[in-house]
Amino acid sequence: MAIDRTTYNSFLSELGTGVTLVAVSKTKPPEDIRHLYDLGQRDFGENYVQELTDKQAGLPRDIRWHFIGHLQSNKVKAIAPFVHLIHSIDSLRLLKEVDKQAARCGRIIDCLLQVHIAREETKFGFDASELEQLLTPSPAPATNPSPALSVLSHVRVIGLMGMASFTGDEALITAEFRSLKASWDKYFGALPSAVLSMGMSGDYRIAIREGSNMIRIGSLLFGARESR
Ligand SMILES: *Cc1c(COP(=O)(O)O)cnc(C)c1O
Repeated sequence: MAIDRTTYNSFLSELGTGVTLVAVSKTKPPEDIRHLYDLGQRDFGENYVQELTDKQAGLPRDIRWHFIGHLQSNKVKAIAPFVHLIHSIDSLRLLKEVDKQAARCGRIIDCLLQVHIAREETKFGFDASELEQLLTPSPAPATNPSPALSVLSHVRVIGLMGMASFTGDEALITAEFRSLKASWDKYFGALPSAVLSMGMSGDYRIAIREGSNMIRIGSLLFGARESR
């Protein structure tokens, strides 16, 4: 069951103005998205390409669709015409494919690099040394802050995304978010509109305290998911 207007509004006021709320609607039916849309929500996040394209086709055009799941290169083409922000770039190869498909659509697609900050082995993303190789530190206030990226003219790398360990250990979550924030400051600190996407239903308060400006919230807004 999706939340009511009062709860939604009080959640928004808790976040304040500096934090963008992405409503993660994976596995939830279009009616649930529509309900939140009618309350004023415009940013929605999905993890699966087929599910996203199916939903996008039947829902209002002014929804900003965020892709937050693991993205395979051969699926980029399907979302390139409309996707608003891809949070989950985990290889240079994938970023090059997004650049290519964006060019075919005559678009420039905003992207975040996913950074592996959690203890768990299963989470995708770059580690600190890979970031070091790919990015050039600020203060050059620029998107695509490195020679390797600046040749890609149809993507804009505007920040970082990360997921903390799935744990009740707040100190560990705090340390993981803090390390992501430090990387973000290093590479994107001089870019005024840079995005730091961290925080989910269970840890968004810690994430905001540690400097997040975009949170990805599923179960808190839509209720628990069936596992899949
Ligand atoms: C599912 C998912 C979320 C939302 O998770 P909740 O715990 O339901 O808020 C956020 N980010 C990513 C990458 C996800 O896969």
